Amino acid sequence: MYACPCGFLGDNKKDCTCSTGDIKRYRKKISGPLLDRMDIHVHVPRLEYSEMTTSIPTESSSDIRQRVTAARAIQYSRLQKYNIFCNAQMGHRHVKTTCHMTHNAQVMLKQAFEAMNLSARGYDRILKVARTIADLANSEQISDIHVAEAIHFRNNIQEFS
Ligand SMILES: [Zn+2]
Repeated sequence: MYACPCGFLGDNKKDCTCSTGDIKRYRKKISGPLLDRMDIHVHVPRLEYSEMTTSIPTESSSDIRQRVTAARAIQYSRLQKYNIFCNAQMGHRHVKTTCHMTHNAQVMLKQAFEAMNLSARGYDRILKVARTIADLANSEQISDIHVAEAIHFRNNIQEFS
């Protein structure tokens, strides 16, 4: 979706022509229960042609694929006893038993829960994404760094209001 009705909010080339009221009404349509059902929100800025054709090396697709495959294997071995195979399928009881956080991570998530006025479902969503980020880093414990990244993915829509 776009960040606003005209589609240019946050764009580095064109100005958004929407009023604050327009944006509020537009966001309201998808806020609350629906936003709660999305695991990840990411703002994707317009790509410059030079960025698409750059030769600066980044992590290659095959490296990323390897990391993802490894993370999926970790999830499968952890979750197969519940008859599910990946973090996205976890319900509340799975989250409770498999998402072990460091003390700092717990403190950070508690603060976010209060500051962001999260629902219980929203809390679980963040924790599931943090679990996945930790799996991609091959870390059994969820640290504050993983939680911070998960919160960032969730916050992305609100950031542009
Ligand atoms: Zn706009």
